[in-house]
Amino acid sequence: MTAMLEVEDLEVSYGKIVAVKGISFTVDEGDVVTLIGTNGAGKTTTLRTISGLLRPSGGQIRYQGQRIDSMPAHKIVTLGMAHSPEGRRIFPSMTVEENLLLGAFSRQDRPAIAKDLQAAYDLFPILGERSKQPAGTFSGGEQQMLAMGRAMMSRPKLLMLDEPSMGLSPLMMKRIMETVKTLQAQGTTILLVEQNARAALRLATKGYVLEVGKIVLTGSGQELLHSDEVRKAYLGED
Ligand code: ATP
Repeated sequence: MTAMLEVEDLEVSYGKIVAVKGISFTVDEGDVVTLIGTNGAGKTTTLRTISGLLRPSGGQIRYQGQRIDSMPAHKIVTLGMAHSPEGRRIFPSMTVEENLLLGAFSRQDRPAIAKDLQAAYDLFPILGERSKQPAGTFSGGEQQMLAMGRAMMSRPKLLMLDEPSMGLSPLMMKRIMETVKTLQAQGTTILLVEQNARAALRLATKGYVLEVGKIVLTGSGQELLHSDEVRKAYLGED
């Protein structure tokens, strides 16, 4: 079976700083794969490189068997990959609906876009209730829902989420994680970057632990949840 996404010996540098030091991992269709690790481990850098926002200094990235590591970001979106970035990056002065429609910029199929807009409102009712409101007036959690809704508007086969739970209340975080499960059940493959290792591993098919640019542990979500190393270093357990 060909993996949906294959990352091989990926290296990414910022000038002289090598942030990602030759990592390899795969994401199979239908899976939720999580990258966990401490601050500065290279998680965001990895996602931004897969999306085409950064260029690797070494290695390869293949999506459905096709090399994408020198493709521009806007082209990668059209292949069926979407990225909900860290810090949400919504457009504050635009309305909720305008923000969502930006996610469909690469599509021409208007009736299907209208249907997907409705699907985003079904997933997150607050977005529908306040669709004409400027997005900048939303709370952090609401903006996170908007960022996920916007990423879904490109109808991605692979959705990459960068720290979707950042700054959220426990209740809101639960909601976001439940949404990840719902999206997976609807057939979306997900690559999830999270600081909250416990929440991410609970729903992950497979996890990779990053430390200063390298993968140090791999396993199923359940294996990693029960690994002594992960429990001590990432779950705050003795
Ligand atoms: P966090 O969980 O804190 O977001 P992360 O695992 O996502 O961390 P990255 O943001 O990928 O980590 O950063 C990896 C390393 O690259 C860090 O040492 C960081 O300081 C460095 N880095 C990130 N962005 C830049 C940049 N634009 N210029 C220089 N160094 C950078």
